[in-house]
Amino acid sequence: MSLVDRIAVARGDIPASLVLRNARLVNVLSGEIDTTDIVVYGDTIVAVGEGYSAETEIDLGGRYVCPGFIDAHVHIESSLCTPPEFSRVVLAHGVTTVVTDPHEIANVLGLEGIRFMLERAKHGPINMYVMASSCVPATHMETSGARLEAEDLEPLLRSDWVLGLAEMMNYPGVIYGDEGVLDKLEMYRTKVLDGHAPSVAGKQLQAYIASGIGSDHECTTVEEAHEKLRLGLTIFIREGTTTRNLKPLLPLVTPMNHTRLCFCTDDRQPDSLLNEGSIDFMVRTAISEGIDPMLAIRMGTINTANYFRLYRHGAIAPGRVADMVVFSDLHNLQPEMVFRAGVLSAQNGEVLREKPAQRKIDLRDSMNVRIDESDFRIPADAAGHIHVIEAYGDQVVTGHVMMDAKVENGEAVSDTERDLVKMVVLERHRASGKVGKGFITGFGLKRGALAGTVAHDHHNLVIIGVDDASIRNAAKAVRTMGGGLVAIDEHGQVMARLPLPVAGLMSEEPLADVKRQYDALIAAAQVVFVGSISQEFFVSPQSSHPPKRNKNQTGGRNSSAQAEHAHGLCLPTQITARLARHVSTEDVCRTPKGRELSFHLTRQSAAVIQVPYSTRRLTQDRLNKAKGLRPSRCRPVH
Ligand SMILES: [Zn+2]
Ligand SMILES: [Zn+2]
Repeated sequence: MSLVDRIAVARGDIPASLVLRNARLVNVLSGEIDTTDIVVYGDTIVAVGEGYSAETEIDLGGRYVCPGFIDAHVHIESSLCTPPEFSRVVLAHGVTTVVTDPHEIANVLGLEGIRFMLERAKHGPINMYVMASSCVPATHMETSGARLEAEDLEPLLRSDWVLGLAEMMNYPGVIYGDEGVLDKLEMYRTKVLDGHAPSVAGKQLQAYIASGIGSDHECTTVEEAHEKLRLGLTIFIREGTTTRNLKPLLPLVTPMNHTRLCFCTDDRQPDSLLNEGSIDFMVRTAISEGIDPMLAIRMGTINTANYFRLYRHGAIAPGRVADMVVFSDLHNLQPEMVFRAGVLSAQNGEVLREKPAQRKIDLRDSMNVRIDESDFRIPADAAGHIHVIEAYGDQVVTGHVMMDAKVENGEAVSDTERDLVKMVVLERHRASGKVGKGFITGFGLKRGALAGTVAHDHHNLVIIGVDDASIRNAAKAVRTMGGGLVAIDEHGQVMARLPLPVAGLMSEEPLADVKRQYDALIAAAQVVFVGSISQEFFVSPQSSHPPKRNKNQTGGRNSSAQAEHAHGLCLPTQITARLARHVSTEDVCRTPKGRELSFHLTRQSAAVIQVPYSTRRLTQDRLNKAKGLRPSRCRPVH
């Protein structure tokens, strides 16, 4: 498959490997749809037009062919599967290229985790490009498993598969010139710099963009997207499982501006990946909502390729990689055949490629947690009011309420009658023995415990349980699995489990199996709840509470409260992770001089618990706090 041969095939001097005849080519370059033949040699399209012969000829009978879809920004970990399994599922949906930020595994295993994803990507059937995770940890108040500074990200610069720096969540750090943040931007200045700036506007937005950052995927309103678009950001419109911005942002799309718009999924869980799809779902939905099919397909293909400088991807033309999707109905785009690098790789939802054998990779154990020695008791010397995290049924933001503690034998305990349930976070990365303890309401847990290690972005071990024995049993069950999610009853029996042995985040099993286990877990969890819980209960990516000013202040992910929902474990996790860091057992639940009994939180933890902020307030609050941040070294960004 030499270049000489490729050119000879294009001239018509030697036969091609594949010709797709009678294809209605969706030409994203010219904006036309014409019936023609598509000629492939090896993994490359060499010609578009008639008069070619090939070893394999497929008559498409007038079916449409568009370029393979490209996901501009995705955290594969949210599928709960490793890249090979994730790739097989999205390939069946016509996605042939993804740009991923391994932010979750990086927060557990650091560079080792990123390298694992790069290695595993080789075994998947799609192109998987990586952006170097820029925010590990996501906020300075989190206890993550790793810390990645600019120098740690330097080796990734040399990988052809690393396109740039992943979403820079630490927007206050950018705007106010945090040294470590600027180091990363400078180091990656010749590559692509992705942004993440929910609700950032005005001069702060100008400052953020002046740093060289080129994209944003956090827009939730047309107004926000317009402002960012005018200032030069490429807007990734996102449709995750919980963050659904597609329909609200479609009014943004015009023939004049659409080349600066791309589609991304960010975080998609097994259920939505299997049932809805990926970028194909976005293209399909956009068209059904009235967007011109050509524009919708461009946003899922060529626009993304251009932004990431992937000039061999995103279009069907000579010299481009032969990644193509065949479908019958332009107004209900369902991938029927998917060609990846010139090979028919999926048909009618079935992946045709064999799964290659995977080299065993010895990742270090991520369950470095002390359970037996940990004390889950919350001493209380008298009844009184306590601060309680309030979970709302379908929202990401939590509230803060005061409730009367239930005190038994000198301890504050759960009171299921009033839906007051204990919550514990065990630090699991360094076996520090740190435990965060608190109470939560709004879950409806009646017995037993639920526990999990998927807790964006720090991924500590979170347990909600009605009594300390259940909490301990649940923690042990998760440790035994090497990480994952579990529901146990009041006798300590595991009702359902989903092992996620890869960093406590992912399974190497097929995604459909993972979904089945996850569904069983949800069903089991519902037994210990009154009412039902959402699909996203365990694993919704959440975060973004206003951390206090700090040198390494970071913004966290998905700050848009409006765009998120689900009372997952994750949000309280972050809060309690902070408790783990800032509160010792002795501080908790005292009655200081007859005043109300309260968790004696440090000020910032209290502030965090007293969310809910609206998105804008949250941003402003954080930015205002960050204003005092003095850049230690101001340098120009090239
Ligand atoms: Zn983001
Ligand atoms: Zn993201």
